Amino acid sequence: MSRLATPGEVLQLIRSGEAVTRADIGRVTGLSRPAVAHRVSDLLQRGLIVEDAEGPSTGGRPPMRLRFHAGGGVVPVASLGARRTQIAICDLAGEVLHRTDIDIDVEEGPGVVLPLLMDTWEKLLEGRGDVAGIGLGVPATVEFAAGRVESARVMASWTGVVIPPVISERFGVPVLVDNDVNVIAMGEHRSVYAAELDDLLFVKVSTRIGAGVISGGGILRGALGAAGEIGHIPVRDGGGVLCRCGNLDCVDSVASGTAILRDLRAKGRDVASLADVTALVRAGDAETMAVVRQAGRWLGEVISGAVNLLNPAVVVLGGDVAEMFQPLVSGVREIVYRRSTQLATRSLRIERGRLGPGAGITGCALMVLDHVLSAQAVDAAAR
Ligand SMILES: [Zn+2]
Repeated sequence: MSRLATPGEVLQLIRSGEAVTRADIGRVTGLSRPAVAHRVSDLLQRGLIVEDAEGPSTGGRPPMRLRFHAGGGVVPVASLGARRTQIAICDLAGEVLHRTDIDIDVEEGPGVVLPLLMDTWEKLLEGRGDVAGIGLGVPATVEFAAGRVESARVMASWTGVVIPPVISERFGVPVLVDNDVNVIAMGEHRSVYAAELDDLLFVKVSTRIGAGVISGGGILRGALGAAGEIGHIPVRDGGGVLCRCGNLDCVDSVASGTAILRDLRAKGRDVASLADVTALVRAGDAETMAVVRQAGRWLGEVISGAVNLLNPAVVVLGGDVAEMFQPLVSGVREIVYRRSTQLATRSLRIERGRLGPGAGITGCALMVLDHVLSAQAVDAAAR
């Protein structure tokens, strides 16, 4: 570091594990011993780090090991779904301390949903530490910097609503809002892949299909926050299905969970939900497997275009449909490795998401922590 490291920068070194003793910090930053001591005592006083003796002494005083204090605050988060919303309180490491799910139709609008969310957080927060920040994932396009909901398709009653001021008025902390798929993409990247790769394409296959792009380590948003709208790219030979966006054969209209259910019903299969489809796949039902695999091929068609354009190191398939159906993943692999350029697929991995059903919650917490624990934010809070 060419200039003097700030307390916020020292905290980053401790959080990442790069430097965990005062001597380490001195070595990495070039700070003098008194300067290190000053920054460390500042962080200790603010409850951002704690220290404990490291292992058995080998004679003399053992070095004190510094550790980020995950219990130093809490982060209320929520992942809004069309009909079900996950609400949680996380610690400063993004671990879920308490979680509850509520069934509410997001179309009830912000006037109903936001107060309910805030009341639920307040109940869950009782007796817990300081709130560091709040995070929200929504199933709509979001102009991230402002937290403004832009999509008119899914959450019509939310269009133009700027969420953060409504929430920060009550809690008085930074509030971050992003598209739910972006949130999960960041969560998967940060918690599983960050140490090994910077370029990841996350595709969520659920009742709908969407994608989040991590490029060079950061989320790719595009000019208006609409990057990753993979669901409305059309496929070839989709059979002329009218999509809810008005176009024909969007991948969302032929390969989503909704489409799989519709296609099976058209074949006379009695499937009420995706759970029924899962049971048929598990039982090895040939017709069901064929429908799911074809959905995977259509999805693969669109993903192979994205792979050519973005050259990700890994494609992560998340969402309940991708997580349940191996034939879907096989269909994607089949087409992507056949259609994408050799260079783009030379070391490409195609894997299922690992965060599972709590991915939206974990992603929200990490989004908030990235912001409130950044070196700049920590230093600004000290002033
Ligand atoms: Zn469409």
